[in-house]
Amino acid sequence: MTEQNHEHFIHCTGLVKIFQVAGLEVVALQGLDLEVERGEILALVGPSGSGKSTLLSALGGLDRPSAGKLEIDGQNLLKFSQIELTAYRREQVGFVWQQTTRNLLPYLTAGQNIELLMTLAGSSAQERQAWAAELLEAVGMVEYAKQKPPQLSGGQQQRIAIACALANRPKILLADEPTGEVDWPTAQRILTLLRDLRERYELTIVLVTHDPRVAEWADRVIAIRDGRTSTETVRVASNGIQAASDGAAAHSSSTAHAEASVHFEELVVLDSAGRLQLPGDQRALAGIGRRARVELVDGGILIKASDEDRIEVTTADPETDAEATYHSLYSADPPPAPAPSNGRVKGSWWKLRWLRKRTE
Ligand code: ADP
Ligand code: MG
Repeated sequence: MTEQNHEHFIHCTGLVKIFQVAGLEVVALQGLDLEVERGEILALVGPSGSGKSTLLSALGGLDRPSAGKLEIDGQNLLKFSQIELTAYRREQVGFVWQQTTRNLLPYLTAGQNIELLMTLAGSSAQERQAWAAELLEAVGMVEYAKQKPPQLSGGQQQRIAIACALANRPKILLADEPTGEVDWPTAQRILTLLRDLRERYELTIVLVTHDPRVAEWADRVIAIRDGRTSTETVRVASNGIQAASDGAAAHSSSTAHAEASVHFEELVVLDSAGRLQLPGDQRALAGIGRRARVELVDGGILIKASDEDRIEVTTADPETDAEATYHSLYSADPPPAPAPSNGRVKGSWWKLRWLRKRTE
């Protein structure tokens, strides 16, 4: 296949996906750009309906984008025939879904669930047993090999689901809300496991989540809004330099000093034509309507309401303000539990609150 973009493991440019529903067109991806490095753990966040699952399906070869460019590990997925796409999906991709019922067959044991996927790949019985045993060990479930999914807890089922996703020795692991149905301590253990598996099997992981706390486990967090990449959250060391993209720096470090020296900053993403998205609530706070005035100022670009199009400025209740802003930036679902109080994850809601205070 083509050898064009070897510098990025995943390279999407101007990705468009249009669904036809009862004669109407639904544009799920509207020219999305995305680059993921080999070995990276990328978290995708965004309101429901913003196109996260559609993107994951395109990356996994489950569905074809309508237009754009999609290259993974030097392969142009849009040029694949249906047979090539199926082979790509079977041989190179592992999927973990939110509902474990989609990953596991309830009447087979954990071990049989893993082996089944290898039967499909045509391995010998001996190979299957050895590989299933290793995967059970890798996900910390050796003693549960003979249990069936309904006998396991949600977190244990998700571990088996992850082992199943690795049965075909994929290069890329795609996970849609893998921690969506478990409590936060269990979610943390699953995320730690994913990091370990990334190292052990040289995986590139893209996971969809609505929980900003997952940022601590990912190397980068990309927010998707209306089918485009909107903002990107990066780690910044206290000296203002973007920290190494290895998220382990923040989460496995044992010293309080190292933890305090890294925080998260959410940056607006510009596409190749210079387009950017301004979240609706921020536009409303600045009174920006359909058109805005753009001024070059010392050190930056100022976007403000134009006199002709100014809209009434909405002022949120200062107490619920932070939550409301967080809510509209990341999710259309109810806001999740507050961020951990150790101050390590500084999400956009804190920053926006601070920005707002300064402009008052
Ligand atoms: P998310 O995962 O971020 O919640 P999706 O990718 O599932 O969003 O959906 C993006 C948009 O595409 C939504 O408007 C959704 O209704 C639409 N959509 C997704 N899948 C289909 C489909 N199979 N047929 C028609 N419309 C779809
Ligand atoms: Mg979805």
